[in-house]
Amino acid sequence: MSIKVENISKKYENNVEVLKNIHLEAKKGEFIVLVGPSGCGKSTLLKIIAGLEKSNSGKIYIDEIDITNKKPSERGIGMVFQNYALYPHLSVFENLAFPLKIKKENRNTINDKVKEIAKILELEHLLERKPKELSGGQRQRVALGRALIKSPRLFLFDEPLSNLDAKLRNQTRDEIINIHKRIGISSLYVTHDQIEAMTMADKIAVMNEGKILQYDTPINVYNNPINLFVAEFIGSPKINLINCSIESGLIKSEGGTILATTNIKNGNYILAVRPEDLKIDKEGKIEIILNKKEFYGDEWILFCNFENLILKLKNRSNSIENTNNVKLSIEKYLLYSTNGDLIV
Ligand code: ADP
Repeated sequence: MSIKVENISKKYENNVEVLKNIHLEAKKGEFIVLVGPSGCGKSTLLKIIAGLEKSNSGKIYIDEIDITNKKPSERGIGMVFQNYALYPHLSVFENLAFPLKIKKENRNTINDKVKEIAKILELEHLLERKPKELSGGQRQRVALGRALIKSPRLFLFDEPLSNLDAKLRNQTRDEIINIHKRIGISSLYVTHDQIEAMTMADKIAVMNEGKILQYDTPINVYNNPINLFVAEFIGSPKINLINCSIESGLIKSEGGTILATTNIKNGNYILAVRPEDLKIDKEGKIEIILNKKEFYGDEWILFCNFENLILKLKNRSNSIENTNNVKLSIEKYLLYSTNGDLIV
């Protein structure tokens, strides 16, 4: 199914506007990630879509049908939260069966459906266990199964991995994506973790202070961040930002170093360079002093003093011998206005 969120705004009792005129559209089967810092309104948006909170204005459509005023149970939505909310005294089988029991389905239907879901989620060998006898990842799969068993048209995930340790988080992330590929249910997934967003999403909505700043594929968001907030939020290590001025086609740092050339008009700007777009280059004009190196197995992150800045550079090899007399050039850059909007 498709989903369309139109002009959604929300104020809580304290009158602070936590969502401002939100627009979002997703096509059938897409995996959409809402990403942004804590408090930017992601969960509120998800709750409004689920029908657990009311918006002050705006409409929500599923498959072109207005569901804005429908009860949560009538929306055909499955939700998965970070705390799995499994019933501790019930077995995996009973936890999975619970939503169908409430709907008073007959026993054979319940048995068949639980087995089908257990197979999809590879829980067949765990059906007799209680939640406390499961790992975090297995519990999350049961929570997913319990949402899935209701045959939802849309899946909503609210930070489902944040309680898991790093290894399980990666594993469960892969599992969620594999399951999504197999069953193809449209999904909205909330996280504050930009790496999770980049690796999972068909499209990312980057949010801040109640607004969606950019909604696009991970590649487009990474390559063309619409403003400095998005540029800094997406990417690790963070993008390098250098205050600069343009004079007759030359982009100069505050200290007067020529960083690059351009045809943009004279004025003050902010030059943004991803760490992988800075290169060690004997002919380079950017003279740095190497301050620190961090080794990540397949690459090095070099921290370089340049004027009053520290530039981060990603490098495949450990080829710098001296810390002085190192020169860099910029392979690719973005240019922002001083109020943070993308110019080129
Ligand atoms: P996120 O999921 O991005 O962390 P939330 O949607 O939970 O953000 O919260 C957005 C803002 O709304 C925050 O400033 C939060 O403090 C506020 N907020 C959330 N729920 C309530 C509530 N029930 N009453 C008042 N303010 C709330």
